[in-house]
Amino acid sequence: MNRTELLQIIRNAGIVGAGGAGFPAYKKLDAKVDHVIANGVECEPLLYKDREVMLQETKKLIRGLEIAREITSASKVTIAIKKKNNDVAESLRPLAEKAKMDIFIMENVYPAGDEFILVYDVTGRRIPPGGIPLQVGCLVNNVETLVNIAKAVEGEPVTDKYVTITGAVKEAVTTVVPIGTSFKDCIELAGGFTTAHPAIFTGGVMMGGVETDLSLSVTKTLGALIVLPQEHNLTVRKTAPQKVYNKTGHSTCDQCSFCTELCPRYILGYPIQPHLVMRSLQMTGSEKERLSLWAANCCECNVCSLFACPEKLDPKNICADTKINLRKENKGFTKQELEVVFRDVHPVREGREIPISMLYQRLGIKAYDRKADFVRNDRKVKEVLIPLKNNFGEDASAAVNIGAQVRRGELIGTVPEEKLGTPIHASINGVVSQITATGIQISSIVL
Ligand code: SF4
Ligand code: SF4
Repeated sequence: MNRTELLQIIRNAGIVGAGGAGFPAYKKLDAKVDHVIANGVECEPLLYKDREVMLQETKKLIRGLEIAREITSASKVTIAIKKKNNDVAESLRPLAEKAKMDIFIMENVYPAGDEFILVYDVTGRRIPPGGIPLQVGCLVNNVETLVNIAKAVEGEPVTDKYVTITGAVKEAVTTVVPIGTSFKDCIELAGGFTTAHPAIFTGGVMMGGVETDLSLSVTKTLGALIVLPQEHNLTVRKTAPQKVYNKTGHSTCDQCSFCTELCPRYILGYPIQPHLVMRSLQMTGSEKERLSLWAANCCECNVCSLFACPEKLDPKNICADTKINLRKENKGFTKQELEVVFRDVHPVREGREIPISMLYQRLGIKAYDRKADFVRNDRKVKEVLIPLKNNFGEDASAAVNIGAQVRRGELIGTVPEEKLGTPIHASINGVVSQITATGIQISSIVL
C-alpha cells in the first residue's frame, strides 16, 4: 500500500485522536516529520487506560507506529511512558528494539502528556507558541490512536473504546466498550456507584468535564469515567458557575502569582501568566485587553486552580474564557512581541513540576487511588447511541435509515471526502432504532 492509500484507509476507518482531542488521524499523519512520538504518558490521576492499551495491544501499537513512520518518513520513533509504568516499558522493550524504536521514561509529574511538554522532554525542541508539533518536525499520537491505525490497515474500523471506570464505584476497572455505550452501562461494569449522589468526571479529574446524565454515551475520545460524590470539594469547584468564579476572582485575588510560578507552560518559557489574566478582571479598556493576551497559551491543565492557588480561585477557567474572547476577536501577541515574551526554559523548572503523589493529596482523591486493571467485557450491550459529532471539522451525517439492519463495523455516517472529518461505524449488530441530530441509536439483535 502506498502513502495515499494508507491515509485513505485511516480516514475511512474513522480514526480520530483517542487521547481526548479527537483530531482526525489521517490529517495529522499527512505530513513529513523526522520524529514520531507515541504518547503513553497518561498523566491524569486515577487513569489506567493507556497503560492497559500498551499491555493488551503491544503488537498493534508497534505496527501502528511502523505505519506512522512509513507515512511520515520519520527517522526516529519514541514511545513515551511514565516512570510509574516501568513494567509496561520493560514488556514493550523487546518488540520496540526489534522495530528500532526508543522508549523514553518520563517522571511521575503532572502534566506530562501535554504535547508542548512531551515534545520538549523527548526531543529538547519547543513548539512555537500557539503552534503544533509538526513545526518542530514531530508527530505525536496517543497509543490507542496508533493501535486503531494498525487495526484499520487490517480492515477494522473504530468501533470500540478503552475506558477506565473508577472512583466511587465498587470495582475500579479498565475495559473495552462499544462506542455509544451509555454511562449507565459503563458504571454497571464497575459494579455500580458507592455514593448516593454521583458526579461523573469524563476523561480526567484535572482536565475533564463533570456530568450527571447517565444516558450520555461513550465517544471515540473518552478515556475514563471517574465517579466522585457531588459534595466532594473537587466536584463543587469544577461545577462553580462562571458568575461565581469571576466574582470571587475579582474580589479575592491578591496577585501572589503562585498560579504563574507553578504553571507548567510558564516554566517552559511560554507567554502565559495567569495572575496577569486575573488582574484583567479588575481592568477595563486597553489595559484589560493587554493583560488578557497572557491567557492565549493556556493548555487548561488546571494546575493553577486546583493545585497552586492558595485562595482556591479559578484562574484556569478565567484563562479559558479569555481565550475564547481572544479567538473571537482574533487577538494575540504579535510576532515581534512573541520574540520578547517567549522566554528560555525557567532554570528551576525541574523543582517546580508537580509530583503526582502531591496532586492526589491536594485534590483529596487519595481514597480512590487504586489500580483499575483490565477486565474483559463479555456483556452484550442492548443499545448504543453513536455520536455524529466530530471534535474537528464536519460532523458525520447519517448514511442509514431507521429500521435498517446493521452489522458491527458497517458504515453508518459519512463526511464528504473534501471536508475535514471522519465517518462513523456501527459498534454492535442491530437495528437502527432512532436517528437524532446528535447520534444514531442501534438496538441490539442477533444477526
Ligand atoms: S494564585 Fe490565586 S490569589 Fe495568587 S495570583 Fe493566582 S489566582 Fe490570584
Ligand atoms: S490551566 Fe493554569 S496552570 Fe495550566 S496552562 Fe493554563 S494558566 Fe497555566
